[in-house]
Amino acid sequence: MPFKDIIGHDKTIRDIQRLMDEDRLPHALLFTGPEGIGKKLTGFSIAKALMCKESKNDFCDSCPSCQSISKGNHPDVALIQPEGNSIKIEQMREWQKTLEYRPYLGSHRVTIIDQAEKMTQAAANSILKALEEPPLGTLICLVTIETRDMLPTIVSRCQVVRFSPLSCSDFCKILLDKSNISGPQARLVYNISKGQLSKGISMNMDYLSKLRDEWIGSFRSPSFDNISVTKTDQANLLEGLEIMAYWVRDMVLLQLGVDDALLTHQDMLGELKKEARKVPYRLAMHRIDIILQTMEALQNNANPKIAMDCLLWQWDKSTNKEMVMI
Ligand SMILES: [Zn+2]
Repeated sequence: MPFKDIIGHDKTIRDIQRLMDEDRLPHALLFTGPEGIGKKLTGFSIAKALMCKESKNDFCDSCPSCQSISKGNHPDVALIQPEGNSIKIEQMREWQKTLEYRPYLGSHRVTIIDQAEKMTQAAANSILKALEEPPLGTLICLVTIETRDMLPTIVSRCQVVRFSPLSCSDFCKILLDKSNISGPQARLVYNISKGQLSKGISMNMDYLSKLRDEWIGSFRSPSFDNISVTKTDQANLLEGLEIMAYWVRDMVLLQLGVDDALLTHQDMLGELKKEARKVPYRLAMHRIDIILQTMEALQNNANPKIAMDCLLWQWDKSTNKEMVMI
């Protein structure tokens, strides 16, 4: 898997390769961008490209060096990540000892600090010197979501490399390659995982389908007999409501005549079309509002039982009102 196989970040990868070709790769990089889109993968890919036995400034992914980085046992490549809730000073001290020695196998030593925003203040302060005056051949690659989560003293010592969210088509392309999810299901996974590839890949489609059947069934009645609100935590409710919001949105899109390929629940196209014929456009739009309001209330820590009762009451009221108007 050479650089060209990293999907969705063509320009970023091109820039990195150009810096490598010109021998100007900075010794400290700060990768920022949404979770689960390939920042850490890019960090490991740079490590491979610096050490690959077969390619220069790219990597073959099959030589002993590339293989050992993939397996996580290359002596000159380290991954530091939170132990518990934070990256601690002890972890950094341990790692900094390794910087005192020359790389074991080649000319480079690469360290990837994942979720770098979770470094404690002491841990963050302890790496300032390494960022300022790194030993020859050192590359430190910090990975985070936003630069504002990092100490300005760290940001100013790194070259910031911004990663954009994956487009839906890039996301689906990778997802279909790495999981057994079918094409029509991929868009649902993209929307529910908010474009976070690592989350999407780990999603269980059986679980999502079951959750969707449960919620759609309950909204059809409409009652929430199948959904035990008292036993369901806020995160589960939000997940179910989001699925429903996309379901009703799909009905609206169908009524507007958009391309089926833009629907979230493409794998249930027949059901959707049937339902879209039954629910008037204005009622569907109103239902989306009700669902979004409930999600907002839950995100603001509303009592789940009261929030869902309120949703049901509004749902019933809007349905009856619409029926009278028809
Ligand atoms: Zn290689």
